[in-house]
This record gives sequence, structure tokens and C-alpha cells, in this order.
Amino acid sequence: MTFSELGLRETVLQSIKELGFEAPTPIQQKAIPHLLKSNSDFVGLAQTGTGKTAAFGLPLINNITSQKSLPQGLIICPTRELCLQITKDLENYAKNDPYVQVVAVYGGVDIRRQMTLLKNATIIVATPGRLCDLIDRKAAKLTEVSYVVLDEADEMLNMGFKEDIDRILEETPFDKNVWLFSATMPQEVARIAKNYMTTPLEVAIGHKNQSNENIEHIYYSVKEKDRYAALKRLIDVNPDIFGVVFCRTRTETQSVAEKLGKDGYNAEPLHGDLSQAQRDNVMKRFRERTLQLLVATDVAARGIDVDSITHVINYNLPDDIENYTHRSGRTARAGKKGQSLVLVNTRETGKIRAIERQIRTKFTEGAIPSSEVICGIQLSSLISKVKETEVKEADIAKFLPQIMDDFADLTKEEVIKKFISVEFNRFIEYYERAGDLNAHPEKGERGERGRDRDRDFRRGGDDRDADKTRFFVNLGKRDGLNPGGLLRVICDETGLKSSNIGKIDVLPSFSFFEASNEFVSNILDNVNGSQFEGNTLKIEITKNDRSGGGGSRNGGGRSNFGGGRERRGGRGDERNGSGRRSESRGRNSRSKAY
Ligand code: AMP
Repeated sequence: MTFSELGLRETVLQSIKELGFEAPTPIQQKAIPHLLKSNSDFVGLAQTGTGKTAAFGLPLINNITSQKSLPQGLIICPTRELCLQITKDLENYAKNDPYVQVVAVYGGVDIRRQMTLLKNATIIVATPGRLCDLIDRKAAKLTEVSYVVLDEADEMLNMGFKEDIDRILEETPFDKNVWLFSATMPQEVARIAKNYMTTPLEVAIGHKNQSNENIEHIYYSVKEKDRYAALKRLIDVNPDIFGVVFCRTRTETQSVAEKLGKDGYNAEPLHGDLSQAQRDNVMKRFRERTLQLLVATDVAARGIDVDSITHVINYNLPDDIENYTHRSGRTARAGKKGQSLVLVNTRETGKIRAIERQIRTKFTEGAIPSSEVICGIQLSSLISKVKETEVKEADIAKFLPQIMDDFADLTKEEVIKKFISVEFNRFIEYYERAGDLNAHPEKGERGERGRDRDRDFRRGGDDRDADKTRFFVNLGKRDGLNPGGLLRVICDETGLKSSNIGKIDVLPSFSFFEASNEFVSNILDNVNGSQFEGNTLKIEITKNDRSGGGGSRNGGGRSNFGGGRERRGGRGDERNGSGRRSESRGRNSRSKAY
């Protein structure tokens, strides 16, 4: 089937040609002919990577044939990243229809400029919170909107945008067309379809909730304490990896990214505590592939539309199983193949079965590769790179006599060995005594000596006691905090003695401290919310964190539990299911991933 057979008009077909799309994808084949009709309510169950943006974007541009003074199309999506991506795609589809003005509105930036831009908008692409603000300010007029697209509807509801979506839809005309796209179909999404649509065409690409079949799902059982070392092995065994590492909390995301950075990997964090400028910068580098590994929370990574991601690594499983579909959907896009790797501890294998049922796909049980395997793979990768390296004969010519002279006393074999060793020594040194990381529950808790070495590679050891809990504090040196000051607040608020508190690390933007596990509830209940020199202290338990002693590599990437996100009435564009702020409430509570 060709695009012209779908009924699109000439200018749109020309744009498709310029984009290099040769044939419509399955969702496009099914959606486009329907969406070109005058009554076209639609529910599309499709993962990202299936071409769903063009499935709604092309007919939307096609249907808008004149510039009216008010917007005719409205697309609502969960995150700023997705908003910008959709806007870019739509601008490409409308390249040959210059009267179509696509305007993106999202939180975290100056609202006044968006108010000005909206005056000429034909299509608005918006995140819900900011659009409600603009409606309140009478800057977004939706009375002429004929098409409303709800993209990633399940995710918007997960993020607590239910009321905002209802509010926005109430502002639009009764006889509009609603096109809803969602990776999954929970009850809440079905409710929107029921309330706002009339006999929509429902198209599912694959089964409902089914995963993309180009993704291979593999899980690895490791002991909790070996999770980070196992992550590094999964990276090392894939030398050409271009991937996203998913963590559950912002703290964990920051910590894992920092540890990887210190250990020599090309990795950066992406989470809601980073400023918008920092997030944009990270995403730019990732898109340009100068960044190899993105360490992200579920919400921050939504809307990442980067093709060619080879691997998704689940450092921890998501709290909400449905998020697994979203995570793994970052790889195997546009017909490519990819792997979704999951690290689980032995108690979590039940969750793997639950995900298998949800995505209707089986996981393979993988084994964390041994040091020999990793060294072999790294070595052959290095040799291939050396062989493929282009020699710029003209540029090197003038240095050659000196180079030849310097190596004159070495044989060819010695030169090869030395050049390989420049790169390869770090792997040999790290892995020479590294043990098996696969969890064998029957073997007892103590691991081989190699594991300790594994953890300490390239960054100095950590003798943290398993009986202690490590806490993250949202304030650091920049807030005037020092170890004595932090100790005073903790002791004042909890009644504990200073000897009850362990190691304290005060870093530029945040801090850590340790205390015996028995004091966890007391500390969480009493220190959280207390004041330090006019700032509210917020603490949470760090998960598997060993980043003490290192500084934030992101300057302003402070964990302020709320900054840098779209704000409307104090709420962010990135929130948990109920729109509540996440907090640690007790020993076993976890902060939700933002
Ligand atoms: P989406 O599911 O909208 O995120 O699209 C995934 C990727 O597929 C994007 O990079 C699109 O540009 C690309 N794409 C969409 N439709 C087609 C098509 N018909 N042929 C080739 N690539 C496409």
C-alpha cells in the first residue's frame, strides 16, 4: 500500500516524500483513511515506534485546509519532550502548507511568549497543566477546535492529569473529533473514550498491551548488592550499546548516573529534578549520540523519540507493571530490533511472570556474563575499531618519521600489544579477579572476593554496613549545610544521640547520612519537613546507593523534590498517579519515579 492510496492530498504527499517515508506503517494504513472522514472518532492502541505520530499528524494536516483565526487542531500529550517532538514532526508534515502554524505549549518556560505565539496557532500541541493555565488566562481559545488528539493517554492519566484532560475537553466544541492513542487500555482510558467519543473506530496494532515483537526481553537474577556491578557487565558485554538505563526514583537515577560517570562510562541522568536546560542539553547529546547511556526515570524518559536505541536496561523493575511496556518501547523502533534487559533479585521473579502475562511475551532468563566473555568481546570490539579506523595519510605523513623512530626498538608484536593495552588494561585489571554475579540462592549470602573488587572498580571502595540505612537529604553546602549542622537537626528532631548517626557526606547540592536500620522510622517521620536556615529538609532512603564522597556532576541538578517541572497550582507535569507529591513514609516506602 502507498501513501497516495490512503487519500492524502498532494502537499502532504510531497512532505512525506521529502521525509523519505516509502510506505505507511500498519497503524497508518488503518488510521489514516478513517481520520480523513468528517466523523472520525478513533482509538488507536499502539506503542511508540509504530509510526503513530504520523498516523494522526498526517490526516490532521490534511484536514486543515485554511488558516482560520482560531486553532482547529489540538494535541495533548504528557511531557514537554513529547510535545516538542510532535511539534517538530507536524512542522515537517506541514512543510508544503505554510498556513498551518503549529505552536507547542508546555511548562517550565515563560508563559508570555507562548501566549503571543498562540495568537497565530492553527494547531496547538500542549501538555495538560500548561494548557489549563493558558485557558485560565484566556490565551488559548478552543471554540473552533475540530480535532483533539490525546497522545499517550494512559501515561497522562498515570501522571494525574485526569481532571486537566476533562477540563480541556469541556472547553472544546461538542461536535469535535477525538483521536486517542495509548499503549495500553486501562479503565480510565476506556472511560475517556466512552465519555467523549461516539462509536470510535478502535484499532489495535498487535494485541492490546502486547509488546513490540522486535524486542527481546531478558532478565538476570542477581543479589541486591551486586545490582550495580551487574549493570556494568551488561554494558561492558555490549560495547556498541546506545541505551537507556531505567531507575525507579530520581535519587537512584542520579546516583547510578554519577557512579557510571565516575567509573568511566559515557552516561548522564535524566529526571525531574534537573532544570529544563539541563534536560534539554542531555537529550540533545543523546540524540546526537555523543552521549551513549541515558539514566532515566520513567516519566522523564516518556516521549523520548530516539531511533536506534539498542538496549533498554531496567536497573530496577518499575513499580507499575504497565510502565514496563513504555520502557521497553524505547528500543526496537521503526522496525529495528532491540533488547530490554531486566535486573531482578531472586524475590522479584514473580514480577517477571506478571509482566509476561501483561505483554504476552516470554522473557528469556539470561546469565550475567563472566569476565572472560566480557574481556573477549571488548578485545574483538577494540580490534575491529582499530582495523576500521581510517588513516588520514596526508595528515599523519609529517609525523611518521618521528613515530617510526620512536618505535624503532619495538617489534611489530610489541607495538600491537602496547596499543591494545592502552585501552584494554582497564578491563583486564577490573575483571581479572571478578567473580560470578548470577544469584544462586542456595549458595548462601556471601559472595566471592571478586564481587568486592567489582564494586570498587575505578572509584574507591565502600565498606557500608548492611545494618545501616543511607538517607538522601535535599540540601547541601550551597544551602549552608555542614555535617555539624545536619547532625544537630537530626538529633534535635529525633532525640537520637550523635553517636547513633553514621557517616555524613555534605555535597554541594545535597547530602547523605547513615543511621542504624532501627532508627529509620523515627528519622523519616521527624526529620522530614524540618527547617534548616529557612529551607525545608526533605529526606528519603537511598536505594543501593554508594555515591557518597562524589559531587553532583550536574551543577544545579539538585534534588529539590519539585523544581524544574511544569507548575500549575503547585503541581508538576511529572507526577505520580494521583498527582500527589511523593514522599518517603516509612521504612519500606519508596519515592515514586519522576
Ligand atoms: P512514532 O511511533 O510516531 O514515534 O514514530 C517512530 C519513528 O518512525 C519516527 O522516527 C518516525 O519518523 C518514523 N516513521 C513514521 N512513519 C514512518 C513510515 N511510514 N516510514 C518510515 N518511518 C516512519
